[in-house]
Amino acid sequence: MTAWLSEGWDHVWLPYAQMQTSPLPLPVLRTEGSRIHLADGRILIDGIASWWTACHGYNHPHIQQAVAAQLARLPHVMFGGLAHEPAYRLASRLAALMPAGLERVFFTDSGSVAVEVAMKIAIQARLNRGQGGRTQFLAFQGGYHGDTIGTMAVCDPEEGMHSLFAGLLPRHVIAALPVDQASIAAFHATLEQHHRALAGIIVEPLVQGAGGMKFHPPETLLLLRKAADHYGLSLIFDEIFTGFGRTGSLFAFQQAGVAPDIITLSKALSGGFLPIAATIASRELFDAFLSDNPADALMHGPTYMANALACAAANASLDLFETNDRLGAVSTIAAQLRAGLEPCRALPHVVDVRVRGGIGVVQLDRIADPQALRQKLIGQGVWVRPFRDIVYLTPAFTIEPADLTRLTDAVAAALQD
Ligand SMILES: *Cc1c(COP(=O)(O)O)cnc(C)c1O
Repeated sequence: MTAWLSEGWDHVWLPYAQMQTSPLPLPVLRTEGSRIHLADGRILIDGIASWWTACHGYNHPHIQQAVAAQLARLPHVMFGGLAHEPAYRLASRLAALMPAGLERVFFTDSGSVAVEVAMKIAIQARLNRGQGGRTQFLAFQGGYHGDTIGTMAVCDPEEGMHSLFAGLLPRHVIAALPVDQASIAAFHATLEQHHRALAGIIVEPLVQGAGGMKFHPPETLLLLRKAADHYGLSLIFDEIFTGFGRTGSLFAFQQAGVAPDIITLSKALSGGFLPIAATIASRELFDAFLSDNPADALMHGPTYMANALACAAANASLDLFETNDRLGAVSTIAAQLRAGLEPCRALPHVVDVRVRGGIGVVQLDRIADPQALRQKLIGQGVWVRPFRDIVYLTPAFTIEPADLTRLTDAVAAALQD
């Protein structure tokens, strides 16, 4: 075994892992495109782009060069009182991609924190305007918005990974997504009951990712917009997973033609190179923080806010979306995912096969032994991480068709028995 792995194993604490039974993680020597090169010489085809971040594949030379040049010039300076071009340029470019009026970008260093900031903005905007008592959010079953204390409270309370903490979390209102007559009626009743305590509605538009890759129609988002307007609530679209092409459009909100009041971005924002997130708020919300009173300012400021290397990576990633037909690639991937995964429908235990954009999902009645299934997939030469009741693929948009075939074949083969 690699020496650093066996020595460090006694000191590293892994994500979401029962350390007593967790198998050793696979030591990686290098990455390239959609491939992960392991220390023992094996090469895995990557099916999930490292938790949905590496949308242009690993080691993309354009991002590498941008980060290297930034590294030589200015890796990081504090964002309070000092400014650097990569962050200011990135803010302008992100604002230009947003619906009209969504124009203020607050940078953070992880998705969870971006969601926390979105929640703080929605609450404090109301406090600043003298509307106290509006501190709760309406969030949805199947939703996932992060692992910090604040965001755990707006995740699905039952299915979430956080039920243990239920007693400690701030209380919010969790409803079923309004997708049919019954859930729409329940949604309206819930709002009627709770709206006075609410600051906003938070949702992952079109696809609930970490909650199980569940899809809902664009009409649902329109309904949320109308409800938010009716009750004076801020509508937050958490596009940390769906942003940057994953659902087939650059952002999910575009498919619904619905503009939220706040959008959160992270994951693929830097093309998978460096941690960075953004909370983008409407002019109206921003204006609620403008006054003669210093206490009306948004009180948030991560130490590594707008890290220059991460901003350089994000700018370079945006370049790639501009200079390449990434959305065209996503629709080709969608067609191939559909063709490749559809045969799984006939396999035992499979209850659904669904594809939206660069997301392909095989849902089972249950996965009895996720660890064994993961090992089986590694045995097939692919890197895919089944969770809950699903096996899913979210490959890089640059994946070769032959590699994608290997991924879908591997999923089908692993589910065969
Ligand atoms: C991953 C994710 C988050 C949390 O992001 P982190 O960077 O892991 O904190 C929040 N919301 C959604 C929709 C996500 O997919």
